Amino acid sequence: MLTQNLGYPRIGSQRELKKICENYWADKTGYKNVLQVGKNIRHENWKLQKEAGIDVIPSNDFSFYDHVLDHSLTFGAIPKRYNEVILKKGNEELDLYFAMARGYQKEGLDVVAMEMTKWFDTNYHYIVPEFYKDQPFKLFSTKIIDEFYEAKQLGITTKPVLIGPVSYLLLGKEKEAGFEKIDLIKNLLPVYIEILSRLDALNVEHVQFDEPFLTLDLTEKDKKAYEYVYKEIRKAFPRLKIVLATYFEGLGNNLALTTSLPVNVLHIDLVRAEDQLNNVLALLKEDTTLSLGLVDGRNIWKNDFEKSVSIINQAVEKRGLDKVWIAPSCSLIHSPVDLDNETNEKNLSAEIKQWLAYAKQKIAELATLKKLITNESPASTLQKLEENKIAIANRKVSKIIHNPAVKERVSALKEQDVERLSPFSARKIKQQELNLPIYATTTIGSFPQTAEVRSWRAKLKNATFTVEEYDNLIELETEKAVRWQEEIDLDVLVHGEFERNDMVEYFGEQLDGFAFSKNGWVQSYGSRCVKPPIIFGDVSRPEPMTVKWTAYAQSLTSKYMKGMLTGPVTILQWSFVRNDQPRSETCTQIALAIRDEVCDLENAGIKIIQIDEPAIREGLPLRKADWQNYLNWAVKAFKISASGVKDDTQIHTHMCYSEFNDIIQNIADMDADVITIETSRSQMELLDAFADFKYPNEIGPGVYDIHSPRVPRREEMVQLLKKAKSVIPSAQLWVNPDCGLKTRGWDETKKALIEMVEAAKEMRKTE
Ligand code: GLN
Ligand code: ZN
Repeated sequence: MLTQNLGYPRIGSQRELKKICENYWADKTGYKNVLQVGKNIRHENWKLQKEAGIDVIPSNDFSFYDHVLDHSLTFGAIPKRYNEVILKKGNEELDLYFAMARGYQKEGLDVVAMEMTKWFDTNYHYIVPEFYKDQPFKLFSTKIIDEFYEAKQLGITTKPVLIGPVSYLLLGKEKEAGFEKIDLIKNLLPVYIEILSRLDALNVEHVQFDEPFLTLDLTEKDKKAYEYVYKEIRKAFPRLKIVLATYFEGLGNNLALTTSLPVNVLHIDLVRAEDQLNNVLALLKEDTTLSLGLVDGRNIWKNDFEKSVSIINQAVEKRGLDKVWIAPSCSLIHSPVDLDNETNEKNLSAEIKQWLAYAKQKIAELATLKKLITNESPASTLQKLEENKIAIANRKVSKIIHNPAVKERVSALKEQDVERLSPFSARKIKQQELNLPIYATTTIGSFPQTAEVRSWRAKLKNATFTVEEYDNLIELETEKAVRWQEEIDLDVLVHGEFERNDMVEYFGEQLDGFAFSKNGWVQSYGSRCVKPPIIFGDVSRPEPMTVKWTAYAQSLTSKYMKGMLTGPVTILQWSFVRNDQPRSETCTQIALAIRDEVCDLENAGIKIIQIDEPAIREGLPLRKADWQNYLNWAVKAFKISASGVKDDTQIHTHMCYSEFNDIIQNIADMDADVITIETSRSQMELLDAFADFKYPNEIGPGVYDIHSPRVPRREEMVQLLKKAKSVIPSAQLWVNPDCGLKTRGWDETKKALIEMVEAAKEMRKTE
């Protein structure tokens, strides 16, 4: 029985990659230094896995920005607009690569970046390949071969990792009409064959093909493509050991297809889809090895050894020791790097830490699991098993996890707790007392988080500032923002969110059941890493979280101050979530905490409250058949959070980066009085879903893009609003930017909002 890893974090245990890349982009360091840091990280990772006792160690899992982009470069799938970047004297391959990732604005050239989107249901973003009709592919970058050779020089024969040809195509986007991306498979396959020949010449043993699309719904054409490519690869390389990796879901109705493919090792995800084991065991060909994805690559919890051992034994009984491998469920790039770097008790207590495993610890877990099965060095291994049992048992009963009051409150929830007192049609009449004009203007919540504001928070953290000093500065900043909003005549004001580090962390820090790591960084895209909060226990709200700041801001003005909260689904979605109860249960607990906050805001005299849910859509399961179940509990959680208030309190929600067509019914079911959405970049096209549905509640389609510093012209916004009015009755329309303004500067923010308010006024004149 061998242990294999599917991929190791490439950011470096101290985020070295981020630092060197950002320095390079800022012209503060040279190209060679970037390459050197990359090399150091690769070497460290390989050695660490080797020393831990991993048998099959991946290569080509390293990436300077994104592994999908690496493949586009490898296959020469380079959009024409980058030709000039290639030709520019002094540019290296890496400069072309970064240009594709981030755009290129230098010495008179101005080329936009490639599009970025989420990697399946993770928070990792990849660079979307661009495909054209009859597009040729050719081996352009030899990264995969170079890195295999590099490891070999160190005495480690690695398993190169490639995204499989079908998944690579399915990840891309057709940039012109008249073809389907999967049709390109015939052009693409020869490049795979060439890569494999080169690796073969270097005596490669195993090659891993990642085919996560095998866990999604496939068309007949996709299925044919799978059969075709793996047959051809097998034919060309009869002796090559092909590892086919699937993850993020079970194989479901692709099970027969997958087990029929001529590969040597099939990897399946048993964390996400534990129940697929028996079906796979029943159908797998006799000579195929089964790789059991047992150690959770997507979360931070320690593996339960007893449970894993029993699963392994089940597989071994059927297939024999030499036809079973063990592995993490998926690549470990979705895990933070090393728990040993969590040295601060204040962040993570010893009690919580004993329940956790980051990537390095997960690697060690695999090695231990193997020893438990093969009975090597039994004394120390058995001790590890004992320690593991104790940690797992502690977690089941720990007082810091289990709060009976919270569990009781969830189980006592009644139908009426999920609904507002009256339907929207009746609430709307009561809310007319708010006396807002049509095309009411507002913003999404945050105002610029300037370097200065962030420096205050840093000073509070390192005790240079007292709480009082910090609060004073935030008060002043809030007051300035309120005054300025009054001056430009916005209708519904916000306090600006200056006191918040992040829209999830700020709440997590005040809720029970949340912990925060110091070094739990995970790559989100390129050099950007996020440090998700850890929801370890039952969630409750010991005291009000936002009332002080919101009430203060309201006290400054006679206009309406909108309360600003993050919704339960978004808090859940952007955290590491406990795995000892269903996500829906955790979400409901958060919903109750937010509900209390909503009620407290109402009691403090706040008439308009926004509950942001930008992450609702990204929580959708990978398979459509599972959507409804998720949407049911997610929508319910939002409604629990929103329904404790009186009819005349106006509840807003906000969603960005969303397509709404296929979930519009569910969005309507959320029954927010007002929803603000991102629409400006799509020229209001995203609004069509609401129009076609005859969405009954009020809606604020974003009238300008907040992602760039560009100041929109009044006329552009008037045009967009006219477009909106042509599909949604004006009585239902609000006027606002696409999203919060925290990443913008004050200068452009002020100019843009002045124009926005004027645009709304022009629209009112046309009524
Ligand atoms: N209220 C948040 C803000 O304005 C919303 C952010 C978001 O939707 N991502 O920043
Ligand atoms: Zn937003």
